[in-house]
Amino acid sequence: MTINNQTVFDADRAHVFHSWSIQSALKPLIIKSGLGSYLWDYEGKRYLDFSSQLINTNVGHQHPKVIAGIKTQLDTLTTIAPATANHARNEAAERLLAIAGDDFAKVFFTNAGADANENAIRMARLYTGRDKVLSSYRSYHGNTGAAIAATGDTRRVPNEYSRGHVHFFSPYLYRSDFWATDEAQECERGLQHLRRVIEAEGASSIAAILLEALPGTAGVLVPPSGYMQGVRQLCDEFGIVLIMDEVMAGFGRTGKWFAHQHYNITPDLITFAKGVNSGYVPAGGVIIHQKINAYFDDKSFPGGLTYSGHPLAMASIVATLDVMAQEHMIENADTIGNGVLAQGLKALADKHTIIGEVRGMGVFWALELVKNRHSKQKLSADEMNTIKAALIERGLLPFIAENRIHVAPPCNVSTDEVAQALAIVDEVLGMACTQFIN
Ligand code: PLP
Repeated sequence: MTINNQTVFDADRAHVFHSWSIQSALKPLIIKSGLGSYLWDYEGKRYLDFSSQLINTNVGHQHPKVIAGIKTQLDTLTTIAPATANHARNEAAERLLAIAGDDFAKVFFTNAGADANENAIRMARLYTGRDKVLSSYRSYHGNTGAAIAATGDTRRVPNEYSRGHVHFFSPYLYRSDFWATDEAQECERGLQHLRRVIEAEGASSIAAILLEALPGTAGVLVPPSGYMQGVRQLCDEFGIVLIMDEVMAGFGRTGKWFAHQHYNITPDLITFAKGVNSGYVPAGGVIIHQKINAYFDDKSFPGGLTYSGHPLAMASIVATLDVMAQEHMIENADTIGNGVLAQGLKALADKHTIIGEVRGMGVFWALELVKNRHSKQKLSADEMNTIKAALIERGLLPFIAENRIHVAPPCNVSTDEVAQALAIVDEVLGMACTQFIN
């Protein structure tokens, strides 16, 4: 049987149903293999992956030590029920707790980021006896939610919450909802707005505030200095659980193990997935603060998953966290990301007026593209598709969201790879400036 780009494409379009898409309009990129920062198709065309896929391959593709860790576990035990005790699971939990710090007691493992957030919300509701969850309009926390409500057996009952979710505006100075003109104003007004939402909703009904430690898909929105500390204070004042979603921002992406460590705050629950094992095996979970853990010492937790703490996922977490430490990947994300990558992106903004704003930290950046720097009019979806196609044609995989190019290479990216990527972005934005600026 012949396997080439065309046969793989044709079989995909015949049999595979893709997420978030109009099926008939799909033209998926064809990928056969990967190594480090690179991917290849079936005909040898090479791509430099500055998307880290969905911002998850923090150690790059096919890291040999992570592959070896998974292979060793394959020969020992490939699956085991969550109610068992297992060495690989213990080791993964211990590694995560060491990174999170002494305030945290235990880890609950899930299959991905969405169910990590589902379970963190469940814990917060049980712990507080309240049901509302406040989160930002500018956030992405996962794509589940109806599964337990649709469940028929009695495990459904303790999960039937009558009221739901309330949203608020979190800081985004470039397009401020608070008419702010500087970071300090954006921070102060954002916190005042959140306080008003808490008061208007009734603090005694709010179980949790769920926030991405650094909002990613919404645009790599680095919070203004003091904002996260202010949210922590509001949570303390009103007895609200602070859930920090580190699914995208965690594990070196921002140049620290966790993004919330930039703010010197301690969340009550930390949710994780993606970079925890670079996605080599689906995995996620919740890191639980001592006080919430203590609550469940004598109360049943009504939640669970067949693959919670799956041995292959656990082995991949242990190997990934070990290799990130041994190969100094967090430091690399910091030095290269805040060094040549940051400087290069800022130089592109000096050169190309299509860039309205550059923001980010570590290996987590966004270029916001506008037709006009004064009006800040966003590039259209068609224009962004043209830019995306031009980048891919030149061998660079970007993560595109709305009018933004997100620049998110693996944490072990090299300066040479950064230079290659910047040259391609430079060329494509030069072309885009002549076509799309008004
Ligand atoms: N939380 C954040 C911040 C995310 O970026 C994502 C996915 O992009 C999720 C949660 C959901 O994770 P998953 O797709 O693994 O369910």
